[in-house]
Amino acid sequence: MKIVAIAGGVGGAKLVDGLAQLLIPGDLTIIVNTADDFEHLGLYICPDVDTVCYTLAGLANPETGWGRLGETFQALENIRNLGGPDWFHLGDKDLATHLERTRRLQAGQLLSQVTRNFCQAWGVRHTVLPMSDQLVRTMVATDDFGELAFQEYFVHLNCKPKVNGFRFEGVDAARPAPGVLEAMQNADAIVFCPSNPWVSIDPILAIKGLRPAIALKTVVAVSPIIGGQTIKGPAAKMFTELGIQPSAVAVARHYGDLLSGYVLDIIDADLASEITIPCYITQTLMKNRDDRRHLAQDVLNFIQTLHSREN
Ligand code: GDP
Repeated sequence: MKIVAIAGGVGGAKLVDGLAQLLIPGDLTIIVNTADDFEHLGLYICPDVDTVCYTLAGLANPETGWGRLGETFQALENIRNLGGPDWFHLGDKDLATHLERTRRLQAGQLLSQVTRNFCQAWGVRHTVLPMSDQLVRTMVATDDFGELAFQEYFVHLNCKPKVNGFRFEGVDAARPAPGVLEAMQNADAIVFCPSNPWVSIDPILAIKGLRPAIALKTVVAVSPIIGGQTIKGPAAKMFTELGIQPSAVAVARHYGDLLSGYVLDIIDADLASEITIPCYITQTLMKNRDDRRHLAQDVLNFIQTLHSREN
């Protein structure tokens, strides 16, 4: 079964790892959000693409879900001692990624090309595609701080400002990266990973041509909200601040008629009656690699039952 997974960083990477444990490389393509990307210390940083790649390569820090295993922070400490910006946590190994990516981009390579080469170097055999080679920037509209660049909101201000909307700067001129539309056309199903709907999945859906391509397919989403809360990050807080009660139901409604089926946690089993599409109830909290594989297997089984209903 050919699967396209749509993913952000930490939550997305966990389910992607589960799918990668089950599917042969040719059967899994991961399309990753790049609207969190930003320039810092003169370097081009792709937090979500790197989190997905590090996870698939077995290089990710299992404690944080982002950054590298066995990381040191000597460069950052020295930047701090010099009075430079230290609010974005860049480890020494991670810095090498950003240095080399920046060098290649400045030499004229495309982000999709650099990502493919890095995946080869790291031994990642499944296909990881940035959503676009063009710059798209999530801008967060807040009540008290005006419009903030995403990492300013997310890391520097620790998601504290009250959010009242989002804008994806540059999205109108952005095109799907090479291979994105082809992977979708060839896919038997598309999986929306348990990622932040507002700032990880929505930027991908906003790229010209992707929504219509997805709408032709069987689409299953896994809820990133369990028992009204997120495991990590501001998705639930964002729903609340936008006047929507955070829940697995709110996420399903957010994606609306793009979805063919929905996976929600056993804790939220009684919410399934409020959702009009087929639901699959299982443990969606992924505490270890086995949990990731089990959830991925559930998602694949669910897709098969949806396909047999369609036929
Ligand atoms: P980010 O770009 O690093 O913020 O990562 P994502 O957008 O991919 O993931 C953030 C979302 O992942 C949050 O809404 C979390 O609730 C969700 N998440 C993290 N771990 C898990 C998990 O084990 N299970 C589920 N269902 N959601 C998770």
